[in-house]
Amino acid sequence: MAIVRNAQEIDGRRRLALHSPVDRRPIAEFDVDDRDDVRNAVTRARAAQPDWAARDIGERAAIIGRAIDVIVARRAEITDTIREETGKPHAEALGVEIVPSCDFLNYWTKRARRDLRPHRQRLHGYLRPMKKLHIQYQPLGVVAVITPWNAPFVLTLNPVVQALLAGNTVVFKPSEVTPRSGEWVARILHEAGVPRDVVQALHGDGETGAALVDSPVDKVCFTGSVGTGRKIATACAERLLPCTLELGGKDAMIVCADADLERAAAGAVYLSMFNTGQVCMSVERIYVIDSVADEFIALVQREAAEVTCGAGATDMGPLFWDRQRDIVTAHVEDARTRGARILVGGSAVAGEGLYFEPTVIAEANHDMLIMTDETFGPVAAIMRVRDEDEAIRLANDSRYGLSGSVFTRDPATARRIAARLTTGSVVHNDSAVIYGVPEAPFGGRKDSGVGHVNGVHALRGFTHAQPVLITRRRPSRESIWYPYTDKTIRDLDGLIRYGFGNKLLRRLLS
Ligand code: NAD
Repeated sequence: MAIVRNAQEIDGRRRLALHSPVDRRPIAEFDVDDRDDVRNAVTRARAAQPDWAARDIGERAAIIGRAIDVIVARRAEITDTIREETGKPHAEALGVEIVPSCDFLNYWTKRARRDLRPHRQRLHGYLRPMKKLHIQYQPLGVVAVITPWNAPFVLTLNPVVQALLAGNTVVFKPSEVTPRSGEWVARILHEAGVPRDVVQALHGDGETGAALVDSPVDKVCFTGSVGTGRKIATACAERLLPCTLELGGKDAMIVCADADLERAAAGAVYLSMFNTGQVCMSVERIYVIDSVADEFIALVQREAAEVTCGAGATDMGPLFWDRQRDIVTAHVEDARTRGARILVGGSAVAGEGLYFEPTVIAEANHDMLIMTDETFGPVAAIMRVRDEDEAIRLANDSRYGLSGSVFTRDPATARRIAARLTTGSVVHNDSAVIYGVPEAPFGGRKDSGVGHVNGVHALRGFTHAQPVLITRRRPSRESIWYPYTDKTIRDLDGLIRYGFGNKLLRRLLS
């Protein structure tokens, strides 16, 4: 992420300046959209929504699907913007942003027709001879999407595309430190043929975000920190507005005694450090069973020592924000003073850029911030545990519950441990890739969020599932309608006695 500072005010309009996290040179300035801009954008989105929703879902999917061609053709420009604002290595701009974006577009545009088509659902029980149930998915109207800076293109594109496919119009606000990376989402969709008022980008910081939440939208889809998520949930609750919140995490990695230790160690380093550790479901704490801990820690130390970092390095870019470097430094210092061993790195790299050394910490424990608070930096923090039970207890000892990982040679062990973890998802022998699996209903528990960003529930979450109950040919009056007579009582009592009182008939009615 670029570093963002107030630049100036021109004609009463706030202006923000972006500075490169690589060398802090100024890279751009932009105007902040105020409350009136937000209202106007939402008004235009409201006006455009009926026409967009009236199009056949196949037509919407065809238009949105063309955005893949636009991304493929313009990937160099998109990644240039992302890299300028975030300092990400080229491999991460492609692997974290572009590849999953193309895949999400490909998946959602193919799936939407099936998952959002009206369908009939067979009724159970005594009403079946009288009624037929149809379910149809109505768009909600105007959806507000607010997103963070760590993966500014894909984290914006994914919810925006789902909301549009469902027939909504969208007003989104990317982070104030990656505005131009987020803006690309509107640009590629417009170029693909989505009308301009159907998807609009607004720019600014929390003030603009709060104004968007306050505006007459029909749903808020937020990805970002727990603190902001709480404010948005409060504002939405006041208006009984639906919202999904994808928030922070402190994901645990459990290394079992039977794990492939080479893979676990390489994974521990990569999954803690890619995107400079600024990934909501990156590995933030590692619990390794005592019997294999020495070997595992030695392998992690070796792997981390080989990660290149600094200006011109290919593996790890800078932290994206000076605020972030302060947090990472504070967590590592707190661990150091509380007795952890810093085996690799442990300091910010001197110089202009926001680089922080790839860092490995051993003998960490839950008295340290590094094991309790979201660090969002390139740190592999390791704690030895007696056995799986202790690993599970400690993994659950967190206010977060986004995702988690289990490294073991036995998938059955991974599933058994997963069943005892209070996290939104669990991955076997890997971790953050779960966000890139659109079939998986990804979403956090506890402080890590509310609702889902992927899976059929996420797509349908941008709609109202409307049941339409059709009445089969019936007499002009139902037997339980007025007037109530002795026969009404006999019929109801008979249903209870013979329908539910008889085990065989009860089965037929279930
Ligand atoms: P943040 O909460 O500071 O900002 C996120 C967005 O909210 C930005 O666009 C910001 O301008 C806006 N915003 C700030 N105050 C607002 C307000 N009062 N009302 C409305 N909008 C407001 O988060 P961040 O620092 O940009 O992102 C990092 C956080 O995001 C980390 O905690 C990370 O774990 C989390 N995250 C979660 C996921 C996930 O899928 N669970 C994915 C990526 C990042």
